[in-house]
Amino acid sequence: MINERMLGLGKQPNPIRVLYAYGLDRKAEIGEENVYDLSIGNPSIPAPDGVKERILELLEEPPEVLHGYTMAAGLASARQAVADNLKKRFGIDATAGQVYLTAGATAALYITVAAITNPGDEVIVNAPYFPEYKVMTESAGCTCIEVPMRPDDFQLDIDALRAAVNERTAAVVINSPNNPVGCIYTQQNIEELSTMLSEKEAELGHPIYIISDEPYREITYGDEVPFTANFYKDTIVCYSWAKSLSLPGERIGYIYVSDNMDNAADVAAAVGGAGRALGFICAPVMFQRVIEKCIELPTNVEAYAENRALLTAGLDELGYTYIQPDGAFYLWVKALEEDACAFSDRAKAHDLLLVPSDGFGVKGWVRASYCVSAECIKNSMKAWKALKADYE
Ligand code: PLP
Repeated sequence: MINERMLGLGKQPNPIRVLYAYGLDRKAEIGEENVYDLSIGNPSIPAPDGVKERILELLEEPPEVLHGYTMAAGLASARQAVADNLKKRFGIDATAGQVYLTAGATAALYITVAAITNPGDEVIVNAPYFPEYKVMTESAGCTCIEVPMRPDDFQLDIDALRAAVNERTAAVVINSPNNPVGCIYTQQNIEELSTMLSEKEAELGHPIYIISDEPYREITYGDEVPFTANFYKDTIVCYSWAKSLSLPGERIGYIYVSDNMDNAADVAAAVGGAGRALGFICAPVMFQRVIEKCIELPTNVEAYAENRALLTAGLDELGYTYIQPDGAFYLWVKALEEDACAFSDRAKAHDLLLVPSDGFGVKGWVRASYCVSAECIKNSMKAWKALKADYE
């Protein structure tokens, strides 16, 4: 018999992808340049030249070696490269044994949640949040507990989080720079979270992990992103090169279980077990080898900074309200009516694709992804203008 939950998930896919699929059809219908698809976080910035050079170099390797299986957690040399990189950048004594290479941040998150929860546990997310957090939590038989971020500055609301933690709490997921809001949690905010969770761990007598989902770590417009594992020992980092090196379709990322944990080796072993149980073994091998050599390549943040300036200047002129992003490449824009889905539908009528906030756990906003070309942002202004006019 078909699994009802899976059927439901299949029939009602992620709202971002629904809009993205609509955009592809619409582009085929009226021409690519006439659709302002600000739905998905698919970087338009090309991957650095170094990636192409590495791929060409790899094509010279014997195919049976190049395409062969690696160990479930990935090539020892690639895991070592990740550990060395973490040590160099954040001063943490990271070891390769605590690194598990994955098919992007998605696999990293699913594996992590499966590794450190038991059915009936609770996982806390901070709203607005990346919609797949709810799916991954519920897939592990856990309950997703939504705690709103502070509405004035979109920092973690430590008092609200404290009130949400209980004996069933297994983890708190944080995402900074944040999708969809673009906020970066300050070091003080992370330190406060760490202190609160440490007190709760002592009181409740079990670990409460921070799952730090970091695919946008390098995409910042000034502020530093604190490395949570330096402040809280029970931290697990989920990372992806989808955004930093513009490799979203290649499916490559990692899990890093902090070496500072009391039971670090056991948690890493549970990660290995969850990878096995979920079938997430041996991340795409060609890109394990690419990453091993390209890990230090810089991210092209300037292009996103220019897009951010273009979009915000245009929306300022039209009188939209939005949250100024400090990182990532999304703009959180206030919908011009209470129903964000209705607002998104109105935008769609102008071929402007904006994701309604409901799937992110809040009402009344839309997310505009500005990792598109600068041309697309400039051209989208007439659609934003027409959309505004609909409400006047
Ligand atoms: N986490 C967040 C916050 C994201 O925005 C995304 C992708 O957009 C992911 C995880 C998934 O990343 P990946 O494509 O590497 O699976």
